[in-house]
Amino acid sequence: LTSKLPRVGTTIFTVMSTLASEKKAVNLGQGFPDFNCDPALVDAVSSAMQDGFNQYPPMAGVPALRQAIASKIETIYGYRYDAASDITVTAGATQGLLTAIMCAVHPGDEVIVIEPAYDSYVPAIELAGGKPVLVQMVVGADGYSIPWQQIAAAVTGRTRMIMINSPHNPTGSVLSLADIEALKDIVRGTDILILSDEVYEHMVFDGARHESVCRHPELAERAFVVSSFGKTYHVTGWKIGYVAAPAALSAEFRKVHQYNIFTVNTPVQHGIAQYMQNPAPYLELPAFYQRKRDLFRAGLKNTRFKLLPADGTYFLCVDYSAISSLSEADFAIWLTAEIGVAAIPVSAFYQSPRESGIVRFCFAKQDQTLQLALERLAKI
Ligand code: PMP
Ligand code: GLN
Repeated sequence: LTSKLPRVGTTIFTVMSTLASEKKAVNLGQGFPDFNCDPALVDAVSSAMQDGFNQYPPMAGVPALRQAIASKIETIYGYRYDAASDITVTAGATQGLLTAIMCAVHPGDEVIVIEPAYDSYVPAIELAGGKPVLVQMVVGADGYSIPWQQIAAAVTGRTRMIMINSPHNPTGSVLSLADIEALKDIVRGTDILILSDEVYEHMVFDGARHESVCRHPELAERAFVVSSFGKTYHVTGWKIGYVAAPAALSAEFRKVHQYNIFTVNTPVQHGIAQYMQNPAPYLELPAFYQRKRDLFRAGLKNTRFKLLPADGTYFLCVDYSAISSLSEADFAIWLTAEIGVAAIPVSAFYQSPRESGIVRFCFAKQDQTLQLALERLAKI
């Protein structure tokens, strides 16, 4: 068999989690909480199963859940989607991203991807026959920023789509209003689509607001907006999320979705629809994770790592160049095997080797897990 993805191996998240468990390291690598979700959410799903919601739901998702999603978006960001035609429930954000790319990108189309980029983006574009056009973020004293002029320069007559991700994995940076304005200037008067990965939409810190493209009708009208309940409700293993897009885009999205997975499991959709009636869990999320970020950052000040800004997501990047000259991949392996703390090399989010001496930690962990990791990191 000739591989369709010859350069792709096993994802870094699987590699590092496997090594972490082999070495009994504290796993601050792959992004997932080590604590349980709200028991009320489990009760809601289990009631849905007991009440007999166990057969195929409608292809695009359970209407009550699509309505809850549309209402949430309108309340928070002010953009009105039609729950019937514009919202599709997906098996996690990963499937939403792949499906959006598959339905929109034709062979030879260019898709602008900003690096570091989540590892599923480029393979998804390649599977669609598209051409990823990579532009790297700039790392400075204030952390990572997007060179919008370079992005404008990368646009050609073949540019089909620009992918954005805010809050951003792995850097923890968030798009500002100025970033959004720059993006608007680039796409205005073109037919370029936006694929906006907003899975960490409810994890923005220090009172900042999440600049969802749904706050900006000019962008939302040409965008697929992707989110994940796995992140928001601490249930990464449930693999459920959604894609919001105007009816014409959603119609094409659903053509692929229906032959990719057809639909997403019923009881979890009913359970989440009910649980979403209470906005408190997502409204409280920034404070919940900001406290963990602050605890972890305070502890890291007692180590030789240099902290980069962490404005959103549950990730935090550190510069280890004062500690070691190993490559990021080798440093992450050494840290896991010898120090007992797993991390993710940021180089895994780039297509071509790029060494900046930075690794990513996930702080979606119990305080005691973070404390144990900090004790180990302080010994380096
Ligand atoms: N996009 C980004 C930026 C992510 O960090 C993740 C999860 N790790 C995903 C998409 C995928 O989310 P899901 O688990 O819902 O497929
Ligand atoms: N998004 C998670 C991360 O960045 C991992 C998801 C996965 O393992 N595919 O760590």
